[in-house]
Amino acid sequence: MNPLYAAMPTTIFETMSARARASGAINLGQGFPDSGWPQDVLDAAATALLQGSNQYPPMPGTPELRRAIADHYRVHQDVDLDWQREVTVTSGATEALAAALLALITPGDEVILFQPLYDAYLPLVRRAGGVPVLVPLAPPHWQFDAAMLSAAFSPRTRVVLINNPLNPSASTFDRTALEMLAGFAERHDVVVIADEVWEHVVFDGAMHSSVLSVPALRHRSVKIGSAGKIFALTGWKVGWMCAAPELTHALARSHQFLTFTTPPNLQAGVAHGLGKDPGWFAAMRAGFQRSRDRLVDGLVGAGYAMLPSAGTWFVSVDLAGSAIPHGDIVVADRLLDAGVASIPVSAFYAEDAVTTTLRLCFAKHDATIDVAISRLAAAR
Ligand code: PMP
Ligand code: GLN
Repeated sequence: MNPLYAAMPTTIFETMSARARASGAINLGQGFPDSGWPQDVLDAAATALLQGSNQYPPMPGTPELRRAIADHYRVHQDVDLDWQREVTVTSGATEALAAALLALITPGDEVILFQPLYDAYLPLVRRAGGVPVLVPLAPPHWQFDAAMLSAAFSPRTRVVLINNPLNPSASTFDRTALEMLAGFAERHDVVVIADEVWEHVVFDGAMHSSVLSVPALRHRSVKIGSAGKIFALTGWKVGWMCAAPELTHALARSHQFLTFTTPPNLQAGVAHGLGKDPGWFAAMRAGFQRSRDRLVDGLVGAGYAMLPSAGTWFVSVDLAGSAIPHGDIVVADRLLDAGVASIPVSAFYAEDAVTTTLRLCFAKHDATIDVAISRLAAAR
């Protein structure tokens, strides 16, 4: 047995959701919305299920979806992709991450990651034989600078894995930050894997900057996307990788022996959705921004200090700033007893870290947010 798995606990998302179900707590832990998905996307998938093919689709994804992905990024991010040579559909972004890391790393290669990091990254890098090199980011802005990058790069660096917008800190890296990273990536001749699953969920009028829109990164990056986040359909697990043809060749070979294909009917639904009017995406963002503001205003009113949230479905409570003299794990346990499940941000750190930030998911109905606020206020 591989000791990596034998010693591994169940993910914090699964654990907190199970505890919320068992206790009847409001689940602001695992990131999933309770509304906001487009009915026409469900209809398109249902029609494809009943009237289309239910056999293996083409290994890199249906032509319809790959074309829709390329068209979508042309419209929304001014990125020109050759749908036949630069797009691979995967079973969720998680599979895309695994496929990309397996395709790009050989044992002993160093992989630069930014901490806090999404919980799948470290186990996947390690399983691929990569040696993680962590760049610590600090609240409230969670940015890197040239000195931090300079300290992280070495002659053994092969890959940089970046998450933008960043889960759990709900921060974003702008074009200037990506251009700084591009300078290092070029100098050290490395590939950037950019997990951009939250690309459409950005607030306050901001626009997402993709690695593929930075000229120096266009041919040395793998952009990962997920329909789960774009259409509030987290259970669908339809993702994709976009990269230059030479990279896509290796990525598709890696994908073909992980899941090989992704359900064709779900691909049809996503292809339909990606072609929706840009106004739909703006309204979706505005809806989640209203929910963010509702939760933040309520919790600030109850005396909690909140960190900024520029994107994602998450916002963090600053426990230290709220004068709560405990670590996140203790507080998460306590709040679960008070009827609200959350995610301790220490779950996004490599070793036995204990942070003083607690992540909450605000992608919920107003009434649910209001009950959560009153329970959190009472637990203060
Ligand atoms: N990366 C990040 C940063 C995420 O937040 C998530 C899910 N929340 C994923 C990857 C996984 O996406 P999927 O469900 O498409 O596998
Ligand atoms: N990405 C989701 C989150 O951050 C959880 C996904 C999962 O449960 N693996 O909450």
